[in-house]
Amino acid sequence: MNMADKDYYKKLGVERQATKDDIKKAFKKLAMKYHPDRAPDDKKKEYEEKFKEINEAVSVLGDDKKRAQYDQYGSAAFQPGAGFEGFDFSDVMSQFRSGTFGNFDDIFEHVFGGGGRRTRARRGADLLYETEITLEEAAKGAEKTIQFNKLEHCRACDGKGALKFETCHHCQGSGYLQRTTRTAFGIFQQSGPCGSCRGQGEVAQDSCAECQGEGLLRKKKKLEVSIPAGVESGLRLRVAGEGEVGEQNGPPGDLYLQVQIKNHPYFQREGMNLYLTVPLSFTQAALGDEIEVPTIDGKAILKIPAGTDSETIFRMQGKGIPSLRHTGRGDQLVKVKIEVPKKLSRKQMEQIKELHEEKASKGFLKRMFG
Ligand SMILES: [Zn+2]
Ligand SMILES: [Zn+2]
Repeated sequence: MNMADKDYYKKLGVERQATKDDIKKAFKKLAMKYHPDRAPDDKKKEYEEKFKEINEAVSVLGDDKKRAQYDQYGSAAFQPGAGFEGFDFSDVMSQFRSGTFGNFDDIFEHVFGGGGRRTRARRGADLLYETEITLEEAAKGAEKTIQFNKLEHCRACDGKGALKFETCHHCQGSGYLQRTTRTAFGIFQQSGPCGSCRGQGEVAQDSCAECQGEGLLRKKKKLEVSIPAGVESGLRLRVAGEGEVGEQNGPPGDLYLQVQIKNHPYFQREGMNLYLTVPLSFTQAALGDEIEVPTIDGKAILKIPAGTDSETIFRMQGKGIPSLRHTGRGDQLVKVKIEVPKKLSRKQMEQIKELHEEKASKGFLKRMFG
């Protein structure tokens, strides 16, 4: 969508994910407010302009097919000559003026099409795709290209199910039939969808060979997806609109990406924290040392104080997994395991014995006298 495009969502004050009902409500509110008949004398032009704008916006967003085109191509798709179905605003305006519309609901009938093809529109099914990532990818986030099969519009017939159509002779191609009712209050004209062509305005002459007239085909689809940093195994990410295509211009379903994190050779994860066990030599533990330990971001230095016991856990702050909601980062907890040497010289043996006795007696005295 380029900059010159009109933002129809903004004009109606709705979110891009707004439902048809939201759009209807927003339109109704604005249409009431900016109805040209309600404009103060000095604001006639402004109100009319605004009224025109919201009508244009709803004519597009209120129609699933046009809305999909707009989401894809922007408002340029609806400029004269763009080759898409346009919307004749003057039509609504003149009916407004002449009082043909009894109330706002009639306008909705007109703008939103009412019955016909719209009621047969069905949202496409959601799809589930499982993907495996490494712990590093879970910590840093990742871009993945995934490939899956989904229902799409048949290209051969452009999703119409047939290549040749003829104009419906019941409604002369309009898709609507006019009905005139005479009542004590005057003449009412009502338009409803044409039953012969189900509001399509045309009827198929043949059936598309590619899709057997379904208008839909199952096809392989490649998609780039972003996996945010901090994901956990089992999390489902929603990729809006990437599910199966809707039938009869219904909106597409969503794609759910289920993430599985592979086991790591040495890190264990618990929430945002990472756990790691590293070996420590007897001397390193006794005398203290600076050792290199792996972290999810690469190597880091961990200071081991002299006299460290086996199974001591050191906390490396902020070296864990970032929070999915960007509210911080977990820690890395390193457990040291002192490796007892299997072969000792006589001299080493004596030294250790001495050390052991000294430590044991100290501990004993300490316990006795505090
Ligand atoms: Zn086809
Ligand atoms: Zn018809």
